[in-house]
Amino acid sequence: MKPKFVAGNWKMNKDLAEGLSLVNALNAAYTAHPLPAVELAIFAPFIHLGLIGPVKGNFKLGAQNCSQFGSGAYTGEVSAKMLKSVGVDYCLVGHSERRVIFGETNAITALKVDQLLENDIRPVLCIGESLEERKAENQNKVVSEQLEQGLFHLDETRFNKCIIAYEPVWAIGTGLTASPAQAQEMHAHIRSLVGNKYGQKVAAEVPILYGGSCNSSNAIELFQSKDINGGLIGGASLDATHFYQICSSFTN
Ligand code: PEP
Repeated sequence: MKPKFVAGNWKMNKDLAEGLSLVNALNAAYTAHPLPAVELAIFAPFIHLGLIGPVKGNFKLGAQNCSQFGSGAYTGEVSAKMLKSVGVDYCLVGHSERRVIFGETNAITALKVDQLLENDIRPVLCIGESLEERKAENQNKVVSEQLEQGLFHLDETRFNKCIIAYEPVWAIGTGLTASPAQAQEMHAHIRSLVGNKYGQKVAAEVPILYGGSCNSSNAIELFQSKDINGGLIGGASLDATHFYQICSSFTN
C-alpha cells in the first residue's frame, strides 16, 4: 500500500501556549475522525519540543533542524542526541529557508542526516529548485544534486529510514502551488534516481512528500498523484481545522 504522511512545519510561529492549544485541537480532531492509515507529524520549534512531546497524542514529534556536530563548543546549536532525549521522531534537513537564509550546503545536510540516523531519528531531506533554476530548466539537475549529495552516501538500511520532501522554493509561502502534473513529474524523477541507486523495491517504498503552498483545497488532487505520498505543510499547518482537513485528503 502507498505510504501516507502529512507533516506540519510550524517554522518560527506559535508561543508555547498557542502550540499546546494547536496540538490539543489536532488530537480532538483525531479522536472525532481517526486516521490510522496516515503517519501524522508536527514539526515544532526547538524550545517547545520537550513540552509538546507528552501531549502529542496520535502525532509524531518532529524538529525543524539539528546541528551537524555531535556535541561541544557550538553556542546556540542543538544536537540530534538532545532531540532524541526529548522524544523527537523526525527532523527536517536542508529546508530551503535553512539553505537560503543560513547558508546550509549539501555537504552540511549530509552531516546532519548522519547525526540524526546515529541517534535513531528519521531525517526528512527537503530538496527543490528556485524559480530561476526552473525558468532555466535546471530543476532536475538541482534536485538530483541535492538528493545525491544529501542522502546517497548512505547504505540501503540507513537510506530506508529517510523521507524526501520535494519543495519547489518558488512555491513555499507564496501561494503558488506546483500543479499536480509538475509535482508528479518531479516526484517520478526523484523516485527513478532512488531506483537507479538502491533498486526498485527501495524506490517504491521511500516516502516522497510534496511541500509548497499545499492547502485544504489543493491537497486532494496532489495526494492522488501516483508518486506523491503526502505533504509537508507550512502556513496551512498553523490552523487545526485546515491542517486536519489536509491530513484527511487521501482518497486512495
Ligand atoms: C514549508 O515551509 O515546508 C512549506 C511547505 O511552507 P508553505 O506550506 O507555507 O508553502
